[in-house]
Amino acid sequence: MRKTQYTGGPVENEVIANLAAASRILAERGVVDGFGHVSMRHPGNPDYYLMARAIAPALVTPDDILEYDMESVPCNPGSSKSFLERFIHSEIYKARPDINSIVHSHSPSVVPFGLVDVKMEAMFHNAAFLAAGVPVFDIRDKFGMTDMLVCDCEKGVALAESLGDKDIALMRAHGSVACGPTLQTAVFRAVYTEVNARIQHWSVGLGGGAPLASLEEEEGRLADVPNQTAGMRAWDLWRLQVRDQLGW
Ligand SMILES: [Zn+2]
Repeated sequence: MRKTQYTGGPVENEVIANLAAASRILAERGVVDGFGHVSMRHPGNPDYYLMARAIAPALVTPDDILEYDMESVPCNPGSSKSFLERFIHSEIYKARPDINSIVHSHSPSVVPFGLVDVKMEAMFHNAAFLAAGVPVFDIRDKFGMTDMLVCDCEKGVALAESLGDKDIALMRAHGSVACGPTLQTAVFRAVYTEVNARIQHWSVGLGGGAPLASLEEEEGRLADVPNQTAGMRAWDLWRLQVRDQLGW
């Protein structure tokens, strides 16, 4: 297996191709559009992470993947423009050693749950991890009036504090972050957070605002374990579709 050399150590090319493919998959599933990003911790060195240069997710190729240290400084000086909100990734990685991949998106069905006083609940088993709770990060709480972007370490720390021990956090009037122990799980969770949001909108409409029979916390905990292996079936399909289109 061919490897590419990074500051944190060599990484198999297939890993880099998977990370690039994740951007394309998230775009095809309606989670990201011209904006949004997905990262993964360097598989051989927890003090670095990998993420595409600032480019629309549907256009990412393996050649666009850059390496960052835990201050979100690019390891290759003079490299291409970086995402302004890369501090989301570094500060969550620092706060949560169990998280190895993060998706940040502005997926449209999710945004309303950061605007109104209605909690996102786990509507079905694929979104089981939501049953643990879905915190909302309000950038105003610590920073007052801003451009809404998590564009420095301080704002990244505040977001990571809102996330706490959960794997999802909504960002008021902005979007969300979905996290996981693997790239595949983070992608699965980001996709099914968006789907879950749509189902909750439908369910609230159908029920006329009546209480929802959503997953209880214990059901969510039980269902999230098999999801992390069964979810690979979805990944294998999505990954194959990208490979068929692009050949990598
Ligand atoms: Zn954003």
